[in-house]
Amino acid sequence: MHPEIIDGFMTGIKQVASPYFNDRPDNQLPTLLVIHNISLPPDRYGGPHVEQLFTGQLDPNEHPYFATIAHLEVSSHFFIRRTGELIQFVSCDKRAWHAGVSSYHGRKNCNDFSIGIELEGCDTESFTDVQYQVLAKLTELLFQFYPLTDIVGHSDIAPGRKTDPGPYFDWIRYRTLINFNQEKSMLEQHLPVLQLLNDIESEMRKTSLWQTSAPEPSAFESVEPFCVDRMHAHEWLQWIFLPRMKALIDMRAELPTNFALHPYFEEAFKEQDEHNKLLELIKQLDELSQN
Ligand SMILES: [Zn+2]
Repeated sequence: MHPEIIDGFMTGIKQVASPYFNDRPDNQLPTLLVIHNISLPPDRYGGPHVEQLFTGQLDPNEHPYFATIAHLEVSSHFFIRRTGELIQFVSCDKRAWHAGVSSYHGRKNCNDFSIGIELEGCDTESFTDVQYQVLAKLTELLFQFYPLTDIVGHSDIAPGRKTDPGPYFDWIRYRTLINFNQEKSMLEQHLPVLQLLNDIESEMRKTSLWQTSAPEPSAFESVEPFCVDRMHAHEWLQWIFLPRMKALIDMRAELPTNFALHPYFEEAFKEQDEHNKLLELIKQLDELSQN
């Protein structure tokens, strides 16, 4: 099952309710992702103390450092442990209290419009492989569900006051991982379309619709749908549509959706039974483009 986000909560992960959140002003949607690091006690991993801090249950007597922070009302939307375990504390639709005094491109109070992700770690040690994997997956999911445009570190929005995620956070690795996964999933989405485009080409070759030389250059200047005034339907298919779709697939770009080629081709090939197979393929392509 692919994870989803429902009412701001990611499915399939551990949820721990933090009392430290409120509504986003005007219920605005988050546009910024903020990466942090945290470990409690500092530089120690694996304990329950981060969860305790974010839920107001940290015992100030358990460690001298805790006495200095136990009174803080802080939270984060997500926390990724060294083991890759992912915990959510606050709905992404709500305002978690992770950034404090902060500003981004002149906009103050980044909590209003951001999602906070804490990585279990510190400023003096590398993060784990699985943390990068989980962070990249989480990032992709959040980008699917929210109009996020930027990713920053806490130190970028609270310079001088905050240093996390610190010099050991590998931004290049993180961004490379996101791009790689995006390209891969785009290719997976495109494969059925590419298969159909190839089937259409081979069917056109079989039925001798495939041309070896292009129409006159002036035909390409048509501004009509399907270049209907200057090309035959199959010419448009071979010289305009197929190359454009393949170029988009090569670039891993978004493909056009909800197009309808079949009605036009059905009319163009009417009473030509030898093109039924081609019409069927075109219909399948139309169907694939519906979303
Ligand atoms: Zn931070």
